[in-house]
Amino acid sequence: MSSVRQSLVENKVASSLIELRDVVKTYSTAAGDFTALKGVNMKIGAGEFVGIVGKSGAGKSTLLNMITGVDHLSEGEVIIHTNGSPVSVHKKKEDEIALWRGHTMGVVFQSFQLLPMLTLVENITLPMDLCGNFSPKQSRQRALELLRLVEIEEHAEKLPALISGGQQQRVAIARALANDPPIIIADEPTGSLDSVTADHIFELFARLVADQGKTIVMVTHDESLSTRFTRALQIADGELVTPKLATNSKSDHEADLNPKKSWWRRK
Ligand code: ADP
Repeated sequence: MSSVRQSLVENKVASSLIELRDVVKTYSTAAGDFTALKGVNMKIGAGEFVGIVGKSGAGKSTLLNMITGVDHLSEGEVIIHTNGSPVSVHKKKEDEIALWRGHTMGVVFQSFQLLPMLTLVENITLPMDLCGNFSPKQSRQRALELLRLVEIEEHAEKLPALISGGQQQRVAIARALANDPPIIIADEPTGSLDSVTADHIFELFARLVADQGKTIVMVTHDESLSTRFTRALQIADGELVTPKLATNSKSDHEADLNPKKSWWRRK
C-alpha cells in the first residue's frame, strides 16, 4: 500500500476533519432577525467528497461561510481537526484566521473569480506568495505543476479571458490547491458550466479525493448531482434533513479507497 493510501486509511479511522456542533446563524435585517441556520450538526471525515444539496435560499452558502469562518456564527461551534490539533474556527483571532484559512482550505466558486489582469500561472502563485510557504521560484514551479495536474499547462501564460469557462474552473481548482490545503470548499462550482464540462470538473474533484486524499465539501442546488458524491446531505430551511446516501457509497462515512474500483471510474 502506498504511503498516501496508507495515510488515507489511517485518516478514515481518525475522528472527523470538519465538525459542526449546533451551529446557528441569525442575520439581523431591517425587517427583523432571520435565522438562516437552525442548529446544524455535521461531521465530515478525511477523504470524503460530501455534497450539500438544497434549493436556493436553503442556507448552503451560509453553511460554507460558517465552515470557512468568513462570517461569524450566532451560536455553536465549528471545529477543524488538522495536523492533529482541533481548531475552533470562530475562536481564532481576526489577524490569524486569513492565514490559517489559506493553509487549511482552498475555495472554489461558481464564478471562478480569477484575477483578470494576471496570467493563469500568476493567479496560482498569488495565494502562495501571500501565505509565504514557497519562495517565488518554487511557487512558479508549483503553479506550473498544478496547471499540469488540471491539464491546462499549455495555457499557463494566457489571461483568463482567453480560455473557456471550464478551463477557468480548472485554474480556480489549481489555485485552491496552491498551498496544499487538506480541505477544498466548493460553492456551486459547476453551476455555470454545461453538463459535459461539469462532468470533467466532477472527475477532477473525485481524482483529488482518490489520489491526493483531499476532503471536499461542495454545495449545489442540483439534486441530480446527489449520487456523484461519496455522501450527500440535504439542507432545507436552514436544517439538515434526512441524509441521502449515494447509491454507490459503501457506507455513509466510507468512500471507496480503491481508485480502480471507485465510483467515478466505474461510470
Ligand atoms: P443558499 O446558498 O442555499 O441559496 P443562503 O445561505 O445564501 O442560501 O441564504 C439562506 C437564507 O439566508 C436566505 O433566505 C437568504 O435570503 C438569507 N440571507 C443570506 N445572507 C443574508 C444576509 N447577509 N442578510 C440577511 N439575510 C441573508
